[in-house]
Amino acid sequence: MKSPLEGKSIDDIGAVYEEGPEQEVSETPAPVAPAPGGTPVTLTFEQLKDLLIEAKKPVISDSDKKKLENDQQTRLDNAAIITLERAKKLQEQAMCGHIRRDGSSRTVYVENGNYLICQRCQDVIRPNAMLKDKNGKDTDKPDIARREVFQKHFAMVGRSQLFDY
Ligand SMILES: [Zn+2]
Repeated sequence: MKSPLEGKSIDDIGAVYEEGPEQEVSETPAPVAPAPGGTPVTLTFEQLKDLLIEAKKPVISDSDKKKLENDQQTRLDNAAIITLERAKKLQEQAMCGHIRRDGSSRTVYVENGNYLICQRCQDVIRPNAMLKDKNGKDTDKPDIARREVFQKHFAMVGRSQLFDY
């Protein structure tokens, strides 16, 4: 069934409602026929306008809202886990001497990146390491201890252990 209001602008609808009673008493048929059998509603134009604007708004149900909140919480949880894992990894790398029980180096030299990587803790040791600030960014001061670790392990890694990715 076609709505009698179909194809009308909001102002036309307002006019229909405002002029409604006059059309009922007039002899000429109303240009917009009221839906037969429909329950008559009495709304002011402003009420109708608000109703139509309200109907156009996207509806967020309670379950959608709950889902959004859960997703947000999941993201926060994941971020916390990642931070924790990173801290654990850093601690593991700080504890690891990158040396096997037999005294050989656990590191391998990655030629195209010019760094050593420990096969146990995945620590990356660079020959040109710089001291880091509290945010983990390089400062302009060389990290002497780190560079010495590189030199020590680089000397231990035989040519046979070298590989390229
Ligand atoms: Zn290691």
